[in-house]
Amino acid sequence: MAERVSMPSVLIVGSGPAGLFAACELKRHGVMPRIVEKRLAPHHETRGTALQPGVLDIVDRAGLIEPFLKGGVHIKHSQLMGPGMRPIMNADFGGVGCRYEFQCSQPQWRTEQILRDHLAARGVKVEYGAEVTAIEPGPKTLRVTLEVGGRTEVAEPHYLLGAGGAHGITRHSMNEHLVGETYGGRYLVADVKLGLAIPPETARVVVGAGGFVLFAPLPDSRWLIFVSRDPADARVDPPTAAELGASVNALVGADVGLSDLRWVSYFRMHRREAERLGDGRRFLLGDAGHMSSPLGGEGINAAFMDAADIAWKLALVVRGAAKPSLLESYAIERGMADRHALDVSNDIHGHITALVAAYRGGGDAPKLAPSTADEIVSAARRRSMLDVSYAGSPLVGQAGATVAAPEPGVRFPDIHRLTGERHHLIVFGAAPGLEKMRARWDGLVTMIDGSAEGFDAAKAGAPGGGAVLVRPDGFIGFRAAPADTTTMAALDAHLASYLIPAGA
Ligand SMILES: Cc1cc2nc3c(=O)[nH]c(=O)nc-3n(C[C@H](O)[C@H](O)[C@H](O)COP(=O)(O)OP(=O)(O)OC[C@H]3O[C@@H](n4cnc5c(N)ncnc54)[C@H](O)[C@@H]3O)c2cc1C
Repeated sequence: MAERVSMPSVLIVGSGPAGLFAACELKRHGVMPRIVEKRLAPHHETRGTALQPGVLDIVDRAGLIEPFLKGGVHIKHSQLMGPGMRPIMNADFGGVGCRYEFQCSQPQWRTEQILRDHLAARGVKVEYGAEVTAIEPGPKTLRVTLEVGGRTEVAEPHYLLGAGGAHGITRHSMNEHLVGETYGGRYLVADVKLGLAIPPETARVVVGAGGFVLFAPLPDSRWLIFVSRDPADARVDPPTAAELGASVNALVGADVGLSDLRWVSYFRMHRREAERLGDGRRFLLGDAGHMSSPLGGEGINAAFMDAADIAWKLALVVRGAAKPSLLESYAIERGMADRHALDVSNDIHGHITALVAAYRGGGDAPKLAPSTADEIVSAARRRSMLDVSYAGSPLVGQAGATVAAPEPGVRFPDIHRLTGERHHLIVFGAAPGLEKMRARWDGLVTMIDGSAEGFDAAKAGAPGGGAVLVRPDGFIGFRAAPADTTTMAALDAHLASYLIPAGA
């Protein structure tokens, strides 16, 4: 009788946004993960609310966009205001160049609920009350100790996704630290109702000499607010609605009519990252690997992006369709992108705190607004997380002529036209050796006749013809342009550097 070969196993530690979305994506790519959570039940905290346009694209590819679009508030505009609510700058998401030109905002607990429901419908259940207490590497597997309802259990997964948040045990087991800084100042975050009239689909930051308040809309006419605290305020017990309302009124110089305080928490802001996001078997996702200022609104978004990236790569390896070395690209690619998210958040954090300092010193607001149309779009694309690029990664390359844009490594502009879990090769014109490649990469790469299917060659970066490889995450992996014997051989070699051909 033939020996039964089972798939290598994957354990996910933590059921925050990173762990849950990684589980959704692994399942979509054909791998059944185990996901454990030390809490006894789901939480009800508002926390990270807005999904950025670039992440909505990823959620769409995952087949999850409908509940987000239906349940969330669409934030299309943001306003920065000075003392007396004097406008300093307005910014829009219109024109950023994606299908969803808005942020989609709802409490984090609802986001997690959508992901949990999606998993439950596909047979994946979060195991609550299961805490990972030790992780030790073995020769072929990891030895993971769990405390489950007063009982000690040992599991031996082949791969582990560390999505345990800022105090993650996976990171400690890898001897990694969140290196960086904690920003000055202390802050309050709360989920409230407001009487203040703010235009629909708009977030607002009001800055003055005393600090700042951020107002971000939520469903059900509620608001997430961030409030900077008086540096002398050392209180630790949470404020009442009346106390919080008085602080906010003082900061913005008007009665905002704050009521119905549902959730409130004190917090500090950080700019920190781990040096290594993976070691071949253990991978750090979300806050376990990096923490950015929530003023940038990128923390939960980076968690989604990390999850999507590791999932397609790990699934190919687990299914025996890719070499384990593919997993090295996770730390390289997400390291670059997460550092970029930290920079974007740091810039936004720096602008707001510089404004406060300027007003406090009695000076004028420093110049903030980008001025040319190109600068405005480029700033909005940065905030939207649409400018993520993996250029420079070993998983990205090109052969032939260099075309300015889109460069290999960036998001494929027509991403929403490509569905499924495979790579896509979009070919414009004749391409030598294409039939041989089709057979060799059968089941892993879907070939598309670009012109016949109505793709725009110039938009794909192959105006004179060629072949454009789009990875399962919708990013351009390789471009062979023009498509001649040499460039197509380079494309084939690129695929063979990490994929295992059918029948090999
Ligand atoms: C006050 C506040 C405001 C924020 N505002 C924003 C915002 O506006 N925009 C934004 O994008 N982001 C924001 N964030 C950040 C956002 O909440 C986080 O980036 C996001 O939650 C990260 O998700 P995660 O899955 O990595 O970690 P978490 O959400 O922290 O989830 C980790 C999970 O792992 C579990 N766990 C930990 N250790 C173990 C273990 N040993 N065994 C089993 N389970 C374990 C934990 O219980 C937890 O459920 C905010 C955060 C805070 C605190």
